[in-house]
Amino acid sequence: MCDFKDKVVLVTGANRGIGRSIAEQFAVLGANVAVAARSKQNAEAVAEELGGGAAPFVLDVDDVDSIAACVKAVLERWGKIDVLVNNAGITRDGLAMRMKEADWQAVIDSNLTGAFNCTKAVLRPMMKARSCCVVNISSVVAAMGNPGQPNYCAAKAGLEGLTRSLAYEYADRGLRFNAVAPGFISTHMTDALGDDQSAALMEKIPLKRLGTGEDVAKAVIFLASEDASYITGQVLHVNGGMFMG
Ligand code: NDP
Repeated sequence: MCDFKDKVVLVTGANRGIGRSIAEQFAVLGANVAVAARSKQNAEAVAEELGGGAAPFVLDVDDVDSIAACVKAVLERWGKIDVLVNNAGITRDGLAMRMKEADWQAVIDSNLTGAFNCTKAVLRPMMKARSCCVVNISSVVAAMGNPGQPNYCAAKAGLEGLTRSLAYEYADRGLRFNAVAPGFISTHMTDALGDDQSAALMEKIPLKRLGTGEDVAKAVIFLASEDASYITGQVLHVNGGMFMG
């Protein structure tokens, strides 16, 4: 079950947080993991820590040339990409009436356009290889909305729509597209929450804890595995029960 030996997995934003956990879990299961990060040093450090089949690649999802160069380098090294995990993302929170155009655009660019461009770059090699898949990291707020995050909620809701559209477009080529929507996960992104915000949050989580990167990684592994071969166009929520659909 969930054997990724000889599989090639590209994880964006793999140098920390959820992306690092995802890269680590795939590495444990024997995959060749392309640890993609904006900084060469960060990518190298994580690839070295993971060992085995992990290798570092530079990737800025805001830059189409960087995406093309990264995909080319991964294909040169391993000849294929079986799994793409679009994990890289940012927040630039603020109420809509005060939100700067640049903050709106940056969040749409990294979380949505970046994922689209990374996916577009792997589509041809994936269609050639068949039986490949993409897992997008969305967020619970795509479905719930969140005051102070109109840009982020719009980007993640867009990512889920993109996931479903691509699932239709490439099903007959053997490709699957799914998303994982984490709730609140303990990472650099949630470190920014104050004590009051964290306490209020805990009230809303029936399982009474923040999630971990590993909780998210396990859902990603499942969707990328053969066990999920009949699942496409879906969003899997990993949120301790704070949103049940
Ligand atoms: P972190 O802030 O800890 O990590 C974000 C990662 O994305 C970093 O590796 C960062 O690289 C990378 N990144 C940001 N912008 C770019 C870019 N332009 N090109 C390449 N890499 C980039 O966040 P999390 O680990 O918490 O979040 C990971 C994903 O999970 C995101 O998509 C986020 O939206 C989603 N998510 C997180 C939740 C949470 O509670 N933590 C909840 C729901 C969803 P660098 O180190 O260079 O900045």
